[in-house]
Amino acid sequence: MTHLSCPTCRAPWREVVTCARCGTHLLPLMRLAVRAHALREAARQALLDPARTTEALALAREAHRLQKSARSRALLALALVAADDREGALEVLASS
Ligand SMILES: [Zn+2]
Repeated sequence: MTHLSCPTCRAPWREVVTCARCGTHLLPLMRLAVRAHALREAARQALLDPARTTEALALAREAHRLQKSARSRALLALALVAADDREGALEVLASS
């Protein structure tokens, strides 16, 4: 899973529901990370089937929208190439 930190104080996430430093409730963030992870996995599976490139792209886009990371960006770029959008892939890779 992508490295997470507290959105309030940026303390590294220690796999607990409440931030040890500032007390922020982190369950919504954890749920979002789990959802983004599931979407990335589904996108990877869809990418293996040439008939599912449109679906793979939609899944990769949603995963990247929910949780941006180097990994989600690379997956989105790959899905764009698979969907024959090389310019889009280069734009995604150029943004950070
Ligand atoms: Zn915190």
